[in-house]
Amino acid sequence: MRLTRYFLPVLKDTPAEASIASHRLMLRAGMIRQASAGIYSWLPLGFKVLRKLEDIVHEEQIRAGHIPMLMPTLQPADLWRESGRYDDYGKEMLRITDRHGRDMLYGPTNEELITDIFRNSVNSYKELPKTLYHIQWKFRDEVRPRFGVMRGREFFMKDGYSFDIDEAGALHAYNRHLVSYLRTYERMGLQAIPMRADTGPIGGDHSHEFLVLAKTGESEVFYDRAVTDMKLGDREVDFDSVEQCQAIFDEFTTPYARTDETHDEALFNEVPEERRMSARGIEVGQIFYFGTKYSAAMGAEVVMPDGSRKPVEMGSHGIGVSRLVGALIEANHDDNGIIWPESVAPFGAGIVNLKQGDSAADAACEGLYQALTRAGIDPLYDDRDERAGAKFATMDLIGLPWRITVAPRGLKNGVVELTSRRTGETEEMSPEAAVDRLTQIYAKV
Ligand code: ATP
Ligand code: MG
Repeated sequence: MRLTRYFLPVLKDTPAEASIASHRLMLRAGMIRQASAGIYSWLPLGFKVLRKLEDIVHEEQIRAGHIPMLMPTLQPADLWRESGRYDDYGKEMLRITDRHGRDMLYGPTNEELITDIFRNSVNSYKELPKTLYHIQWKFRDEVRPRFGVMRGREFFMKDGYSFDIDEAGALHAYNRHLVSYLRTYERMGLQAIPMRADTGPIGGDHSHEFLVLAKTGESEVFYDRAVTDMKLGDREVDFDSVEQCQAIFDEFTTPYARTDETHDEALFNEVPEERRMSARGIEVGQIFYFGTKYSAAMGAEVVMPDGSRKPVEMGSHGIGVSRLVGALIEANHDDNGIIWPESVAPFGAGIVNLKQGDSAADAACEGLYQALTRAGIDPLYDDRDERAGAKFATMDLIGLPWRITVAPRGLKNGVVELTSRRTGETEEMSPEAAVDRLTQIYAKV
């Protein structure tokens, strides 16, 4: 993309309404604009990042054997009356009446709708297990929308629903989700720690939230520092293997890690003192096994081998895709702007032409632009007639991981500069070598 043709309305001044870095930087970098409280338009740069996260979530869900689909944002109230949640949900639910006087709602989540689909289509235990998911906009009329996309009213969520014939199957689905989530967040360059979470009125101990540690997080968390050294890495996972998923689950959930809702001071004190940590975290996902809560209330049953009918065992599993954009920035920024990990960067590299209009500089930039595009690196070429300082400031603000700087003086020696946004290190090399280097870096992402 050439910057002169793009839509990148960066702001010079810090918007007064933004109190945390990610909100401030998303506004300044022209990623989002507020439409009304807690509701945002995703401008082209923000939309690109959102799409990248969505792609990673899809890939990892499909890898785990889960099936993508798409349910609507608007749902009929009657389904929620069946589960009893129409009244329970209170003011967070946006209720709408259509022209025929029918009660509708903008879905805050989809348990009822998916259970309805399931009960109308699945009859036999032979069709299980199944996990269906979608990535769709949700609406919750939060009392205090704040921190930009982190606590929006409209937000983008992956929500998946597992259906199994028995508890053992449902627990495997639960473990499988935990493992696939670990991989999902790691691919985004994030550490999200699974922490035992509150299951609310349903009880049981089968809920984990995934938290990204950040000073600005809304949750208070307590953990054994050992969890921060754990990584799934690129080990091979067989998502059908009950044993392997259980082993990884055990590995990652044995060290103490809990949110304040489930925090147990006595247990925590068993962790050696130097490893006992308390901090703040951003909840970027949650998994939940709730048995037959919805299937029993809504009659989602299957015929078992002995001919009896049994409500299915269900779980629901969410990832806050739009919140993750904010969480990623909270975890990756400095005073000058965002620092994207390669896997989610809106563009793979920026090209800065320090002398627009100079025939050698223009030609070198054009060559780099073509070569990087061919290599699939998706460059952003700053071809504006602007001062160097302004161009560097824009690149730093929007946080592309790599910048190639092209100046007539360097070109006389056959070199351009390749700069890492994260380390600030700069190396001189030929334009061809810069393209090769970036090709190698992105081949590993
Ligand atoms: P919170 O405790 O932050 O209100 P939640 O536990 O009610 O969230 P879930 O129902 O678990 O949310 O939804 C799954 C994921 O969706 C959360 O882990 C979070 O990442 C994201 N999410 C929830 N509410 C919001 C929101 N208002 N804005 C942005 N993302 C959200
Ligand atoms: Mg939650």
